[in-house]
Amino acid sequence: MSKYDVVVIGSGPGGYVAAIRAGQLGLKTAIVEREKTERLGGTCLLRGCIPTKAMLQTADLLAKASHAEDFGISLSDPKVDMDKMDKYRARIVKKNAGGVKYLMKKNNVDVHFGHGRIAGKNKVSVEGLDGKTTTLETKHCVLATGSACQHLPFIEMDHERIIDSDDLLQMTDKPEHLVVIGAGAVGSEFASVFLRYGSEVTLVEMVDRLLPIEDVEVSKEIEKSFKKQGMNVMTSSKVTDVTRTDDGVKVVVETTKGGKNSAKEIQASHLLVATGRRPVTGDCGLDKTKIEVDDRGYIAVDEYMQTAEDWVYAIGDIVNTPWLAHVASHEGILAVDHLAGEPAHPLNYDLVPNCTYTSPEVASVGLTEEQAKERGYDVKTGTFPFSAIGKASIVGQTEGFVKIVSETKYDELLGMHIIGPKATELITEGTVAMELESTVVELLHTIHPHPTLAEAVGEAAHAVMGETIHI
Ligand SMILES: Cc1cc2nc3c(=O)[nH]c(=O)nc-3n(C[C@H](O)[C@H](O)[C@H](O)COP(=O)(O)OP(=O)(O)OC[C@H]3O[C@@H](n4cnc5c(N)ncnc54)[C@H](O)[C@@H]3O)c2cc1C
Repeated sequence: MSKYDVVVIGSGPGGYVAAIRAGQLGLKTAIVEREKTERLGGTCLLRGCIPTKAMLQTADLLAKASHAEDFGISLSDPKVDMDKMDKYRARIVKKNAGGVKYLMKKNNVDVHFGHGRIAGKNKVSVEGLDGKTTTLETKHCVLATGSACQHLPFIEMDHERIIDSDDLLQMTDKPEHLVVIGAGAVGSEFASVFLRYGSEVTLVEMVDRLLPIEDVEVSKEIEKSFKKQGMNVMTSSKVTDVTRTDDGVKVVVETTKGGKNSAKEIQASHLLVATGRRPVTGDCGLDKTKIEVDDRGYIAVDEYMQTAEDWVYAIGDIVNTPWLAHVASHEGILAVDHLAGEPAHPLNYDLVPNCTYTSPEVASVGLTEEQAKERGYDVKTGTFPFSAIGKASIVGQTEGFVKIVSETKYDELLGMHIIGPKATELITEGTVAMELESTVVELLHTIHPHPTLAEAVGEAAHAVMGETIHI
């Protein structure tokens, strides 16, 4: 029987980062992954962050090419070639999955392909892809089995026309008319990408605004922009019936606005159900432990990601923290540092950056204006539009703004919200500032290079003080 210090089950950004950290600390480590293609990287790399952002890169280039004349370049009739896009996307996934395998080798992590289960105290069984089962003995186990697409009970998925995000990433044809249910990050990103590829897109959201976890002003701005780009946006609306037809799908949407109900029937080529994900905790041997899951399938952990069994840790999408790759990775490092007896730093979930790769991009960290008020802060805000930033005009993306939320007593920075060009890169400035417990004054005194998009962050800090320079 192989003996390990740590066995990690699941090789997503939680699991593989935990394994790297364990290897770095000199622990004898194994990782178990059931993916049949023998690729490491999990949802993030194979069916999530990486392939979707490759699709987005194509959409961005297409948008730029379509407006090439504005930048002094003549191009005729640019359009997306889905087959070539698919090859490019596959190349990126393959390269990155290979990179994770290389990192396992570099950090002396043994890789076992197969289904991993806790098989009793300090034991993990691996049902190999060849059907043979082996048992690993280990001092610690890190569960990182991730999440899967969540479907709606009244919608029968045929995975052809009525699809989830995994199916969509297999498609090599552009949907003629895509209806998307759910305007969270995943739904909004796909809606935005296919709109720019030239599909007709209808985005249906149950609550009264898009990207409901973001600041209200950001939600309004993204809705305005999506509509301007030609998307059919239906908020306060829910899909109540779905029927597969010969050449597509019939979707009934009910809308409630101002106390009035109305219903609309939409004929579309495809329906994407993007209503969330569920933790994968059903078949990993929890019955051999005293670990329990809640009614949504999540495993309870303490601030060091330790479960009710002190030799088992749980990280990533299987615990009730934000479903994000960077959260999973940080939790992986935290868990391994803790089990190894190293200084371990619990995460401050208020400081997790949220990024949505739509056009325009959206990113935020900290509290929204509403959340800050709910927590009892005396709030002041400052907003600066990209339309007044030289670099934004140069790149031809002047939509959006930076909004800073602070409190009045010490000018402590409570939140930063960005909608606009490179928002997902710019947000790191706010994340670092908040991690360092910076005030708005320090942000205002930070010298921002010119001409950059980051100047909008400095100007938003000026705006909090009521003294913008360029407006
Ligand atoms: C379309 C889409 C786009 C996304 N985009 C972003 C983004 O841009 N940024 C971001 O931060 N997040 C994004 N996410 C979310 C992100 O992918 C997840 O939060 C992240 O992958 C969670 O990591 P994880 O390690 O917990 O699990 P996962 O990445 O889900 O990996 C779990 C792994 O465990 C394996 N596994 C499960 N059970 C077993 C078992 N019993 N034995 C062996 N192996 C097992 C699975 O095969 C899988 O490989 C996106 C998600 C989707 C679906």
